[in-house]
Amino acid sequence: MGPALSWIEDPIQGYRLVLIEEKSHFNHVFAFPRASVISGFEHELFIPYDNVFSGDETIGKVVRARASAIHEDYVELDRDVPGFGKRVDYAYLVYCAGTKIPAPGRFNDLHTKEEGIAALKRYQKAIEQSERPVVIGAGAVGLELAAEIKEHYPEKHVTLLHSRNRYLPRYKVSMDVMIYNTLKKTGVKQVLGDRVILPPGGFPLEVKPIDIHTQGGKTIQGDLAIMCIGMTPNSDLLRKFSPKTINEKTGFVKIKNTMQIQDDRFQHIFAVGDVADHTDVKTGHYAWMQGLAALTNIKKLISGAKQEELEPYKMTVGSWIAGRSIPHNVYATANAGILKASPEDLLK
Ligand SMILES: Cc1cc2nc3c(=O)[nH]c(=O)nc-3n(C[C@H](O)[C@H](O)[C@H](O)COP(=O)(O)OP(=O)(O)OC[C@H]3O[C@@H](n4cnc5c(N)ncnc54)[C@H](O)[C@@H]3O)c2cc1C
Repeated sequence: MGPALSWIEDPIQGYRLVLIEEKSHFNHVFAFPRASVISGFEHELFIPYDNVFSGDETIGKVVRARASAIHEDYVELDRDVPGFGKRVDYAYLVYCAGTKIPAPGRFNDLHTKEEGIAALKRYQKAIEQSERPVVIGAGAVGLELAAEIKEHYPEKHVTLLHSRNRYLPRYKVSMDVMIYNTLKKTGVKQVLGDRVILPPGGFPLEVKPIDIHTQGGKTIQGDLAIMCIGMTPNSDLLRKFSPKTINEKTGFVKIKNTMQIQDDRFQHIFAVGDVADHTDVKTGHYAWMQGLAALTNIKKLISGAKQEELEPYKMTVGSWIAGRSIPHNVYATANAGILKASPEDLLK
């Protein structure tokens, strides 16, 4: 979305930006943890893509379809789209398919607003009925969810299970201490340093007494288990097209500092955002800035720049919400010294 909005402000004649997206609406996932707990604003979290380019198809177009294969100069679609058929030809491609994580952090396989709202309501209902919810995984989503539940239902016994010994290890220890103490004060039971043994297929969304076993031999009892673990990059399409671009250990897409994929045969293909194998913390802020960096270089290529004239992406210092509602918000800003690196280091 970042590059698309920038493109609208400053398009290049003769080119248009095509967004291929299988969802009907932009999902504002930042608020999904809260909307899984309390109702009344779900409809605000799904913003239609229809009007991104204000109907000016010379500037841009949203193609509602699933990209099913990548080729050197076109993307195959899973359905017929008026004006395109089953393919979108391109001069430059930015691959930004993001990641999968379990619901309710994202709804990977739900594609409409109605389906998304109905899913959020299912979580609200289960959480309301549960007396002893257990949140498994304390990355940003698990932390937020546990805090939201306890904040809105102080009488519930909320347990947060985490395989590591500290929270958000990409940040300074002071952040971990701050979060731990705030959750403790709120009354969330925190079990750290032990990994849950997941049943095949994970835990269903149902309220009934359950025993959750850990590799360390603990048994945690609850009546609802919500998984907030496991981020899987949506990199399959690029893997098929250019296998060497994929980091085999993690599945993320290897990129150059220009945001082009690490395959010299395809200098017109870029990858940005959560799917990219980059040291940036996986947040919207960085996805946006990486997208803008790719767009800048595409514009340079369009105007005839050589490879060596492209600009390297520089991490920008910004702020983002690292642990909303815990219940006092914890904001991570490089300026406030929360990141391990200093702002000066980041801007090098
Ligand atoms: C619960 C939650 C809370 C968060 N809170 C914050 C926060 O407070 N602050 C912050 O900065 N960041 C936050 N983040 C992180 C932020 O949402 C991500 O970093 C950001 O969305 C990454 O953007 P992206 O464009 O790379 O990927 P995504 O936002 O995942 O977008 C990828 C898109 O590609 C589509 N897609 C995938 N494959 C295909 C295909 N084959 N064909 C067509 N379409 C496809 C998907 O439908 C999706 O819309 C949060 C994330 C979650 C899950």
